[in-house]
Amino acid sequence: MSLAVFDRSKDRVAAAKQYMPGGVSSHFRYGVSPTPLVFERAEGVYLHDIDGNRLIDYYLALGPMILGHMPADVIGAAKAQLDRGILYGGQSELEFAAAKLVCEMVPCAERVRFCASGTEADQLALRLSRAATGRDVIVKFEGHYHGWMDSVLWSAAPTGNAMGPESGPVPVAGSAGQDALAGRNIEVLSWNRPQQVIDRLARGDVAAVLMEAAMCNSGAIMPQPGYLEAAREACTRNGTILIFDEVITGFRVGPGGAQKRLGVTPDLAVFAKAIANGFAVAALAGRSDLMDQLAGGNIVHGGTYNAQAVNMAATVATLKRLSTPGVYDKMEIRGRRLMEGLAETFKDAGVPATVTGFPQIFHVGLGLTEPPVNYRDCLRVDRPGYIRLATLLLQRGVRALERGAWFLSTEHDDAIVDTTIAAMRDALAEWVKTR
Ligand code: PMP
Repeated sequence: MSLAVFDRSKDRVAAAKQYMPGGVSSHFRYGVSPTPLVFERAEGVYLHDIDGNRLIDYYLALGPMILGHMPADVIGAAKAQLDRGILYGGQSELEFAAAKLVCEMVPCAERVRFCASGTEADQLALRLSRAATGRDVIVKFEGHYHGWMDSVLWSAAPTGNAMGPESGPVPVAGSAGQDALAGRNIEVLSWNRPQQVIDRLARGDVAAVLMEAAMCNSGAIMPQPGYLEAAREACTRNGTILIFDEVITGFRVGPGGAQKRLGVTPDLAVFAKAIANGFAVAALAGRSDLMDQLAGGNIVHGGTYNAQAVNMAATVATLKRLSTPGVYDKMEIRGRRLMEGLAETFKDAGVPATVTGFPQIFHVGLGLTEPPVNYRDCLRVDRPGYIRLATLLLQRGVRALERGAWFLSTEHDDAIVDTTIAAMRDALAEWVKTR
C-alpha cells in the first residue's frame, strides 16, 4: 500500500502564515498532525486535498455533513435560491418553512429562532434563561463545549490540579485573554452525577442547566440511565430552565435529536451543524412561553446573517431529506457495523480501546478498558498514541478526528465501512510495531 503524503498542504499552510495566523481560521484547525490540510474539493464521503489524496471523511467538518459532501438536493436548493437573492434583511418563506420543519421534528420545539453559529445560539439560550427567570447562575459540566465565548468557555477541556476534586469542580478558563469576571455566574459540575445537580438546584437560584444531552465533545458518552430524567425533574422542581446543547447530536442521532432518542424533553435546545449540511445555520428552539419572550420585549438578539436565504434553502432541503423514512435506520446499521469492526480490530491487535456513543457519532477511547462515564474518565485516554494512530490512518486514506470522534454520513456505505476497517487494521499493525 502506498502511503499518502501531505507535503503540498504543509508548504501551502507554511506560506499562508505570511497572511493568516498559523495559516488557519480556527484554533481547532491549528497544530494537527501531520499538518493542517488544504482541500480543493469534496464529494460524497471523499475529500480531495492539494497533494492529490482522496480521503474517506469521518471528520465531516466536525459534524455538519450528515448527507455527505455535495448532496444534489441541498446543492440544487441553494443554487436555485442564489438566483433569487442572498440576504434580504427581512423574512422569507424559506425561513418559515425551515422553522416549521424543526418544530415538527424536535420534541421541545414550539418556536425557533435562527442564528449563524452554534456559539451564538448558545449565548441566546443563556440570555433568554436569565431574562425569563430573573436569576444569574448557569450550571454547566466538565468537558462540555458550548462555543468559544468568554461566558461559557469554562472547563470545556480542563487538565491538572486546577480542576479541583470531582465532588466540587473548579471552573477553569479555556483561553488566555478570557474575561475572568465572565465566569462569575458559571458553576461547573461533574456530568452523569445526578445528586450533584439535585443538590445544587435545591438552592433555588440557578437560571439554567446547560448540557450536551449526550457528551460528544469529550468522548461520546451516553447519560447513565435516569440521569437526564433526574436533571429534568430537578429543573422543573426548582424553576430552572433545562437547555440541551444539541449542536452535535441534533438531526444527527435521529430526526428529533438526542432529546427524542433518549426520551427527555428540555425547555430549550440549541442546534447547528447537521441542521443545514454545511451551511452556516444554527437555531434556538423551545417552549413557546419562553421563546415568545424574544418577541417585542426587551431581550435583544441580533445577527445580520440570521436566516440568510441561501442557508435557509439548504436547511429546508436538508431537513426534508432527514425526514424521509429509513434515512437514520441505514446510518444506524452501517455505523454499528463500523463501531463493531473497529472494536474487533483493536481486540485482535491486543490494544485496549473502547468504542462508545451513537452509530452516527462515536468515539474511540484508546487505552481505556471500561466505557467512560464522564470527562475525568476521558483524561485517561492515550492521547499522543491516538494522534499517532489517526496520522497512520490518514496516510492510509481515512480522515478521522485526532480526539477520537468519528462522524458518519448517509453516504458511508458498506463498502466504505469495509475499506475503513481494513485501513484501521493496517494502521494499527504499524502502530503496534512502532509503539
Ligand atoms: N455546542 C456544541 C455542543 C458544539 O459541539 C459546538 C461546536 N463544535 C458549539 C456549541 C459551537 O458551535 P459553532 O462552532 O457553530 O459556533
